[in-house]
Amino acid sequence: MAEPTAGLRIYAEWMFDGEEVASEPGVVLELQGSRIEKVEVGANPETAALRFAGCTVLPGLIDAHVHLSFSAGSSHAEVVRDLQSASPEQLLERAARHAQQALASGITTLRDCGGPAEVPYVVRSLIRQGKLPGPDVLISGAPITTPQGHLHYIGAHARNASEIERRAEQLLEAGADFLKLIVTGGNMTPGSDRLGCQYEVAEIAGVVRCAERAGTYVAAHVLNREGLRRAVCAGVRTLEHCSWRSGPASHEFDENLARIMRQQGQIASLTMSAPTWRKVVPGTSEIDPELFRDLDDRFASERQMLDCGVRFIVHTDAGVRQTPFGVSLIYGIRAAELELGLSRVECLRAVTGYAAQALGLADRGRIQAGKRADLLIVAGRPWYDLSALHQVRGVWCAGQRCS
Ligand SMILES: [Zn+2]
Repeated sequence: MAEPTAGLRIYAEWMFDGEEVASEPGVVLELQGSRIEKVEVGANPETAALRFAGCTVLPGLIDAHVHLSFSAGSSHAEVVRDLQSASPEQLLERAARHAQQALASGITTLRDCGGPAEVPYVVRSLIRQGKLPGPDVLISGAPITTPQGHLHYIGAHARNASEIERRAEQLLEAGADFLKLIVTGGNMTPGSDRLGCQYEVAEIAGVVRCAERAGTYVAAHVLNREGLRRAVCAGVRTLEHCSWRSGPASHEFDENLARIMRQQGQIASLTMSAPTWRKVVPGTSEIDPELFRDLDDRFASERQMLDCGVRFIVHTDAGVRQTPFGVSLIYGIRAAELELGLSRVECLRAVTGYAAQALGLADRGRIQAGKRADLLIVAGRPWYDLSALHQVRGVWCAGQRCS
Protein backbone atom coordinates (compact mmCIF):
# COMPACT_ATOMS: atom_id res chain seq x y z
CA MET A 1 0.00 0.00 0.00
CA ALA A 2 1.15 3.55 -0.72
CA GLU A 3 2.40 5.87 2.03
CA PRO A 4 -0.20 8.31 3.40
CA THR A 5 -0.48 11.32 1.11
CA ALA A 6 0.97 14.57 2.46
CA GLY A 7 -0.72 17.88 1.71
CA LEU A 8 -2.76 16.57 -1.22
CA ARG A 9 -5.44 18.99 -2.48
CA ILE A 10 -8.51 17.46 -4.12
CA TYR A 11 -11.20 19.41 -5.97
CA ALA A 12 -14.75 18.17 -6.45
CA GLU A 13 -17.60 20.11 -7.96
CA TRP A 14 -20.07 19.22 -5.19
CA MET A 15 -19.98 17.90 -1.63
CA PHE A 16 -22.24 16.03 0.76
CA ASP A 17 -20.46 16.36 4.11
CA GLY A 18 -22.20 13.50 5.94
CA GLU A 19 -25.01 15.76 7.15
CA GLU A 20 -25.85 18.31 4.44
CA VAL A 21 -25.15 19.22 0.84
CA ALA A 22 -22.59 22.04 0.61
CA SER A 23 -24.21 25.43 0.03
CA GLU A 24 -22.09 26.32 -3.02
CA PRO A 25 -20.30 24.33 -5.68
CA GLY A 26 -16.53 23.99 -5.84
CA VAL A 27 -14.91 22.26 -2.89
CA VAL A 28 -11.24 21.74 -2.22
CA LEU A 29 -10.16 19.28 0.49
CA GLU A 30 -6.63 19.28 1.75
CA LEU A 31 -5.41 15.99 3.21
CA GLN A 32 -2.54 15.68 5.62
CA GLY A 33 -1.51 12.11 6.38
CA SER A 34 -4.59 10.16 7.41
CA ARG A 35 -6.69 13.27 8.19
CA ILE A 36 -8.58 16.04 6.47
CA GLU A 37 -6.61 19.21 7.12
CA LYS A 38 -8.85 21.81 5.49
CA VAL A 39 -12.22 22.09 3.74
CA GLU A 40 -12.72 25.06 1.40
CA VAL A 41 -16.17 25.64 -0.09
CA GLY A 42 -16.44 27.87 -3.19
CA ALA A 43 -12.76 27.23 -3.87
CA ASN A 44 -10.73 27.69 -7.02
CA PRO A 45 -10.13 24.33 -8.75
CA GLU A 46 -6.74 25.56 -9.97
CA THR A 47 -5.39 25.29 -6.41
CA ALA A 48 -5.93 21.50 -6.39
CA ALA A 49 -3.61 18.84 -7.79
CA LEU A 50 -6.46 16.41 -8.39
CA ARG A 51 -9.65 17.71 -10.00
CA PHE A 52 -13.00 15.94 -10.29
CA ALA A 53 -15.31 18.10 -12.39
CA GLY A 54 -18.95 16.94 -12.46
CA CYS A 55 -18.34 14.84 -9.34
CA THR A 56 -19.40 14.79 -5.69
CA VAL A 57 -17.16 14.10 -2.74
CA LEU A 58 -18.76 12.48 0.31
CA PRO A 59 -17.51 10.65 3.40
CA GLY A 60 -16.49 7.05 2.81
CA LEU A 61 -19.55 4.87 3.36
CA ILE A 62 -20.17 2.81 6.50
CA ASP A 63 -21.89 -0.58 6.34
CA ALA A 64 -22.77 -1.20 9.97
CA HIS A 65 -23.74 -4.86 9.73
CA VAL A 66 -21.95 -7.41 7.55
CA HIS A 67 -20.47 -10.89 7.81
CA LEU A 68 -17.14 -10.99 5.98
CA SER A 69 -16.85 -14.79 6.30
CA PHE A 70 -20.28 -15.54 4.79
CA SER A 71 -20.42 -16.46 1.10
CA ALA A 72 -23.59 -14.62 -0.06
CA GLY A 73 -24.65 -17.96 -1.62
CA SER A 74 -28.02 -18.46 -3.26
CA SER A 75 -29.86 -19.74 -0.18
CA HIS A 76 -29.50 -19.73 3.62
CA ALA A 77 -28.59 -23.45 3.45
CA GLU A 78 -25.83 -22.75 0.95
CA VAL A 79 -24.38 -19.92 3.08
CA VAL A 80 -24.29 -22.20 6.14
CA ARG A 81 -22.74 -25.04 4.10
CA ASP A 82 -20.11 -22.68 2.67
CA LEU A 83 -19.27 -21.59 6.19
CA GLN A 84 -19.01 -25.08 7.65
CA SER A 85 -17.15 -26.73 4.77
CA ALA A 86 -14.46 -24.05 4.35
CA SER A 87 -11.02 -24.36 5.92
CA PRO A 88 -9.74 -21.45 8.05
CA GLU A 89 -7.52 -20.44 5.10
CA GLN A 90 -10.48 -20.44 2.71
CA LEU A 91 -12.56 -18.40 5.16
CA LEU A 92 -9.77 -15.88 5.48
CA GLU A 93 -9.31 -15.66 1.73
CA ARG A 94 -13.06 -15.11 1.30
CA ALA A 95 -13.18 -12.43 3.99
CA ALA A 96 -10.19 -10.66 2.44
CA ARG A 97 -11.85 -10.67 -0.99
CA HIS A 98 -15.07 -9.27 0.48
CA ALA A 99 -13.22 -6.50 2.29
CA GLN A 100 -11.55 -5.49 -0.99
CA GLN A 101 -14.86 -5.49 -2.88
CA ALA A 102 -16.41 -3.25 -0.22
CA LEU A 103 -13.52 -0.79 -0.36
CA ALA A 104 -13.62 -0.58 -4.16
CA SER A 105 -17.25 0.56 -3.99
CA GLY A 106 -16.48 3.32 -1.50
CA ILE A 107 -17.14 1.59 1.83
CA THR A 108 -14.35 2.64 4.19
CA THR A 109 -15.77 1.23 7.45
CA LEU A 110 -17.35 -2.18 7.97
CA ARG A 111 -18.79 -3.55 11.18
CA ASP A 112 -18.53 -7.34 11.14
CA CYS A 113 -21.43 -8.70 13.20
CA GLY A 114 -20.21 -12.26 13.65
CA GLY A 115 -17.72 -14.65 12.14
CA PRO A 116 -16.05 -17.96 13.00
CA ALA A 117 -13.20 -18.30 15.48
CA GLU A 118 -10.14 -16.21 14.63
CA VAL A 119 -11.13 -15.06 11.14
CA PRO A 120 -12.54 -11.60 12.06
CA TYR A 121 -9.54 -10.84 14.31
CA VAL A 122 -7.04 -11.85 11.64
CA VAL A 123 -8.74 -9.86 8.87
CA ARG A 124 -8.94 -6.76 11.05
CA SER A 125 -5.30 -6.93 12.04
CA LEU A 126 -3.99 -7.64 8.50
CA ILE A 127 -5.89 -4.59 7.24
CA ARG A 128 -4.69 -2.39 10.11
CA GLN A 129 -1.09 -3.48 9.50
CA GLY A 130 -1.45 -2.54 5.82
CA LYS A 131 -0.90 -6.14 4.69
CA LEU A 132 -4.34 -6.42 3.15
CA PRO A 133 -6.33 -3.73 1.31
CA GLY A 134 -9.67 -3.13 2.98
CA PRO A 135 -11.90 -0.74 4.90
CA ASP A 136 -11.42 -0.19 8.61
CA VAL A 137 -13.12 -3.24 10.16
CA LEU A 138 -14.80 -3.37 13.58
CA ILE A 139 -15.57 -6.83 14.91
CA SER A 140 -17.73 -8.61 17.46
CA GLY A 141 -15.91 -11.93 17.00
CA ALA A 142 -18.29 -14.80 17.75
CA PRO A 143 -21.91 -13.81 18.44
CA ILE A 144 -23.16 -14.80 21.90
CA THR A 145 -25.96 -17.34 21.47
CA THR A 146 -27.42 -20.47 23.06
CA PRO A 147 -25.89 -23.91 22.28
CA GLN A 148 -28.64 -24.72 19.74
CA GLY A 149 -29.56 -21.12 19.00
CA HIS A 150 -29.31 -18.90 15.95
CA LEU A 151 -25.73 -18.88 14.54
CA HIS A 152 -24.70 -21.55 17.10
CA TYR A 153 -22.22 -22.96 14.53
CA ILE A 154 -20.07 -19.84 14.84
CA GLY A 155 -21.30 -18.69 18.25
CA ALA A 156 -19.92 -18.26 21.75
CA HIS A 157 -22.40 -20.48 23.60
CA ALA A 158 -24.07 -19.29 26.79
CA ARG A 159 -27.19 -20.61 28.53
CA ASN A 160 -27.65 -18.32 31.52
CA ALA A 161 -26.59 -15.01 33.04
CA SER A 162 -23.27 -16.19 34.43
CA GLU A 163 -22.26 -17.99 31.21
CA ILE A 164 -23.28 -14.97 29.16
CA GLU A 165 -21.13 -12.62 31.23
CA ARG A 166 -18.17 -14.98 31.12
CA ARG A 167 -18.45 -15.17 27.31
CA ALA A 168 -18.76 -11.40 27.07
CA GLU A 169 -15.61 -10.92 29.13
CA GLN A 170 -13.70 -13.50 27.04
CA LEU A 171 -14.68 -11.78 23.79
CA LEU A 172 -13.70 -8.35 25.09
CA GLU A 173 -10.39 -9.71 26.31
CA ALA A 174 -9.75 -11.26 22.89
CA GLY A 175 -10.17 -7.80 21.38
CA ALA A 176 -13.80 -7.56 20.22
CA ASP A 177 -14.71 -3.94 19.39
CA PHE A 178 -18.34 -4.51 20.51
CA LEU A 179 -20.53 -7.45 21.49
CA LYS A 180 -23.13 -9.15 19.33
CA LEU A 181 -25.94 -10.85 21.21
CA ILE A 182 -28.51 -13.09 19.55
CA VAL A 183 -31.75 -12.22 21.36
CA THR A 184 -34.22 -14.00 19.04
CA GLY A 185 -34.21 -16.90 16.61
CA GLY A 186 -32.99 -16.29 13.07
CA ASN A 187 -33.86 -17.18 9.50
CA MET A 188 -30.67 -18.88 8.39
CA THR A 189 -30.25 -21.42 11.20
CA PRO A 190 -32.19 -24.68 10.67
CA GLY A 191 -34.48 -25.33 13.65
CA SER A 192 -34.32 -21.74 14.90
CA ASP A 193 -37.64 -19.91 15.26
CA ARG A 194 -37.57 -16.22 14.42
CA LEU A 195 -40.66 -15.77 16.62
CA GLY A 196 -38.89 -17.15 19.69
CA CYS A 197 -36.59 -15.40 22.18
CA GLN A 198 -33.30 -16.79 23.52
CA TYR A 199 -32.62 -14.51 26.51
CA GLU A 200 -34.45 -12.63 29.28
CA VAL A 201 -34.15 -8.90 29.94
CA ALA A 202 -31.88 -9.45 32.99
CA GLU A 203 -29.49 -11.61 30.94
CA ILE A 204 -29.33 -9.05 28.14
CA ALA A 205 -28.76 -6.28 30.68
CA GLY A 206 -25.79 -8.26 32.05
CA VAL A 207 -24.10 -8.18 28.64
CA VAL A 208 -24.83 -4.47 28.30
CA ARG A 209 -23.10 -3.84 31.65
CA CYS A 210 -20.05 -5.92 30.62
CA ALA A 211 -19.76 -3.97 27.38
CA GLU A 212 -20.16 -0.60 29.12
CA ARG A 213 -17.49 -1.47 31.70
CA ALA A 214 -15.13 -2.05 28.77
CA GLY A 215 -16.16 1.26 27.13
CA THR A 216 -18.20 -0.32 24.37
CA TYR A 217 -21.77 -1.43 23.60
CA VAL A 218 -24.02 -4.29 22.51
CA ALA A 219 -25.53 -4.92 19.08
CA ALA A 220 -28.51 -7.25 19.46
CA HIS A 221 -30.07 -9.43 16.78
CA VAL A 222 -33.84 -8.91 17.13
CA LEU A 223 -36.25 -10.47 14.67
CA ASN A 224 -39.48 -10.15 16.60
CA ARG A 225 -41.30 -7.57 18.67
CA GLU A 226 -40.94 -9.30 22.02
CA GLY A 227 -37.18 -9.63 21.45
CA LEU A 228 -37.08 -5.96 20.50
CA ARG A 229 -38.91 -5.06 23.71
CA ARG A 230 -36.44 -7.06 25.82
CA ALA A 231 -33.39 -5.55 24.08
CA VAL A 232 -34.79 -2.02 24.45
CA CYS A 233 -35.55 -2.53 28.17
CA ALA A 234 -32.04 -3.94 28.71
CA GLY A 235 -30.46 -0.82 27.20
CA VAL A 236 -28.95 -2.30 24.02
CA ARG A 237 -27.42 0.38 21.82
CA THR A 238 -27.93 -0.90 18.26
CA LEU A 239 -31.01 -2.98 17.49
CA GLU A 240 -30.08 -5.14 14.51
CA HIS A 241 -32.94 -5.84 12.07
CA CYS A 242 -35.17 -4.08 14.61
CA SER A 243 -38.18 -6.13 13.61
CA TRP A 244 -41.76 -5.49 14.78
CA ARG A 245 -42.78 -9.01 13.73
CA SER A 246 -45.65 -10.21 15.89
CA GLY A 247 -46.65 -13.41 14.06
CA PRO A 248 -45.80 -15.66 11.11
CA ALA A 249 -47.11 -13.07 8.63
CA SER A 250 -47.62 -9.90 10.65
CA HIS A 251 -45.82 -6.90 12.09
CA GLU A 252 -47.27 -4.73 14.81
CA PHE A 253 -45.82 -1.38 15.69
CA ASP A 254 -45.87 -0.30 19.36
CA GLU A 255 -45.71 3.43 19.85
CA ASN A 256 -44.84 3.26 23.56
CA LEU A 257 -41.83 1.08 22.84
CA ALA A 258 -40.69 3.40 20.05
CA ARG A 259 -40.96 6.36 22.45
CA ILE A 260 -38.67 4.58 24.91
CA MET A 261 -36.21 3.89 22.08
CA ARG A 262 -36.22 7.57 21.17
CA GLN A 263 -35.81 8.72 24.78
CA GLN A 264 -32.93 6.30 25.36
CA GLY A 265 -31.26 7.25 22.07
CA GLN A 266 -31.27 3.64 20.88
CA ILE A 267 -30.62 2.97 17.22
CA ALA A 268 -32.76 1.03 14.80
CA SER A 269 -30.30 -0.72 12.48
CA LEU A 270 -32.47 -1.51 9.45
CA THR A 271 -31.64 -4.47 7.21
CA MET A 272 -31.83 -3.89 3.47
CA SER A 273 -30.51 -7.24 2.21
CA ALA A 274 -31.37 -8.70 -1.21
CA PRO A 275 -35.03 -9.69 -0.51
CA THR A 276 -35.84 -5.97 0.02
CA TRP A 277 -34.60 -4.80 -3.39
CA ARG A 278 -37.80 -5.55 -5.36
CA LYS A 279 -38.02 -1.98 -6.70
CA VAL A 280 -34.31 -1.74 -7.51
CA VAL A 281 -33.04 -5.11 -8.74
CA PRO A 282 -35.28 -7.31 -10.92
CA GLY A 283 -35.87 -10.85 -9.65
CA THR A 284 -35.13 -10.22 -6.00
CA SER A 285 -38.78 -10.50 -4.97
CA GLU A 286 -38.56 -14.24 -5.65
CA ILE A 287 -35.73 -14.83 -3.16
CA ASP A 288 -38.03 -15.47 -0.22
CA PRO A 289 -41.77 -15.73 -0.94
CA GLU A 290 -42.49 -16.01 2.78
CA LEU A 291 -40.70 -12.77 3.65
CA PHE A 292 -42.07 -11.11 0.54
CA ARG A 293 -45.64 -11.82 1.66
CA ASP A 294 -45.43 -9.32 4.52
CA LEU A 295 -42.73 -6.99 3.27
CA ASP A 296 -45.24 -4.13 2.94
CA ASP A 297 -46.22 -4.72 6.56
CA ARG A 298 -42.60 -4.69 7.64
CA PHE A 299 -41.87 -1.40 5.91
CA ALA A 300 -45.08 0.16 7.27
CA SER A 301 -44.06 -0.69 10.85
CA GLU A 302 -40.57 0.70 10.27
CA ARG A 303 -41.99 3.89 8.77
CA GLN A 304 -44.15 4.37 11.89
CA MET A 305 -41.06 3.95 14.04
CA LEU A 306 -39.14 6.54 12.02
CA ASP A 307 -42.10 8.93 12.28
CA CYS A 308 -41.75 8.61 16.06
CA GLY A 309 -38.26 10.09 15.77
CA VAL A 310 -36.26 6.93 16.54
CA ARG A 311 -32.62 7.20 15.42
CA PHE A 312 -31.80 4.85 12.55
CA ILE A 313 -29.12 3.57 10.21
CA VAL A 314 -29.29 1.30 7.17
CA HIS A 315 -27.11 -1.78 6.65
CA THR A 316 -26.93 -4.71 4.22
CA ASP A 317 -26.15 -7.82 6.31
CA ALA A 318 -23.77 -8.51 3.37
CA GLY A 319 -22.63 -12.11 3.20
CA VAL A 320 -26.14 -13.47 3.78
CA ARG A 321 -27.97 -15.03 0.83
CA GLN A 322 -27.64 -13.17 -2.45
CA THR A 323 -26.26 -10.08 -0.73
CA PRO A 324 -22.71 -9.53 -2.03
CA PHE A 325 -20.16 -7.05 -0.74
CA GLY A 326 -19.83 -3.74 -2.53
CA VAL A 327 -22.96 -2.90 -4.52
CA SER A 328 -25.42 -4.09 -1.88
CA LEU A 329 -25.17 -0.95 0.25
CA ILE A 330 -26.16 1.25 -2.70
CA TYR A 331 -29.02 -1.11 -3.62
CA GLY A 332 -30.01 -1.09 0.06
CA ILE A 333 -30.32 2.68 0.41
CA ARG A 334 -32.00 2.96 -2.99
CA ALA A 335 -34.57 0.44 -1.73
CA ALA A 336 -34.87 2.38 1.57
CA GLU A 337 -35.70 5.53 -0.39
CA LEU A 338 -38.49 3.80 -2.30
CA GLU A 339 -39.83 1.54 0.46
CA LEU A 340 -39.47 3.68 3.59
CA GLY A 341 -39.97 7.05 1.95
CA LEU A 342 -36.65 8.40 3.18
CA SER A 343 -35.32 11.47 1.40
CA ARG A 344 -32.14 10.89 -0.57
CA VAL A 345 -30.20 13.04 1.91
CA GLU A 346 -31.53 10.88 4.78
CA CYS A 347 -30.40 7.77 2.89
CA LEU A 348 -26.90 9.26 2.54
CA ARG A 349 -26.79 10.23 6.23
CA ALA A 350 -27.86 6.69 7.20
CA VAL A 351 -24.59 5.31 5.78
CA THR A 352 -22.27 8.23 6.70
CA GLY A 353 -22.89 10.71 9.53
CA TYR A 354 -25.68 8.80 11.32
CA ALA A 355 -23.80 5.50 11.01
CA ALA A 356 -20.60 6.93 12.50
CA GLN A 357 -22.57 8.37 15.44
CA ALA A 358 -24.43 5.11 15.99
CA LEU A 359 -21.16 3.19 16.13
CA GLY A 360 -19.54 5.76 18.41
CA LEU A 361 -16.92 6.67 15.78
CA ALA A 362 -16.37 10.39 16.35
CA ASP A 363 -13.39 10.48 13.96
CA ARG A 364 -15.37 9.82 10.77
CA GLY A 365 -18.68 10.03 8.93
CA ARG A 366 -18.30 13.76 8.21
CA ILE A 367 -16.10 15.83 5.93
CA GLN A 368 -14.54 18.26 8.38
CA ALA A 369 -11.05 19.36 9.31
CA GLY A 370 -9.57 16.83 11.73
CA LYS A 371 -11.68 13.85 10.64
CA ARG A 372 -10.21 10.75 9.04
CA ALA A 373 -9.67 11.23 5.33
CA ASP A 374 -12.17 8.54 4.36
CA LEU A 375 -13.59 9.82 1.09
CA LEU A 376 -15.70 8.65 -1.81
CA ILE A 377 -15.87 10.55 -5.09
CA VAL A 378 -18.66 9.70 -7.53
CA ALA A 379 -19.86 11.16 -10.82
CA GLY A 380 -23.04 13.23 -10.55
CA ARG A 381 -25.04 14.30 -7.52
CA PRO A 382 -26.41 11.42 -5.41
CA TRP A 383 -29.02 13.66 -3.73
CA TYR A 384 -30.72 13.86 -7.15
CA ASP A 385 -30.25 10.18 -7.92
CA LEU A 386 -28.71 7.68 -5.49
CA SER A 387 -27.57 5.47 -8.34
CA ALA A 388 -24.81 8.07 -8.91
CA LEU A 389 -23.09 6.20 -6.05
CA HIS A 390 -22.39 3.35 -8.46
CA GLN A 391 -20.17 5.71 -10.54
CA VAL A 392 -17.07 5.58 -8.35
CA ARG A 393 -14.23 7.90 -9.41
CA GLY A 394 -12.02 7.71 -6.33
CA VAL A 395 -11.81 6.21 -2.83
CA TRP A 396 -9.52 7.28 -0.01
CA CYS A 397 -9.26 5.36 3.24
CA ALA A 398 -7.39 7.08 6.10
CA GLY A 399 -5.68 9.33 3.56
CA GLN A 400 -4.56 6.56 1.22
CA ARG A 401 -6.00 6.34 -2.25
CA CYS A 402 -7.43 2.87 -2.80
CA SER A 403 -9.41 3.24 -6.02
ZN1 LIG B 1 -26.29 -10.47 10.39
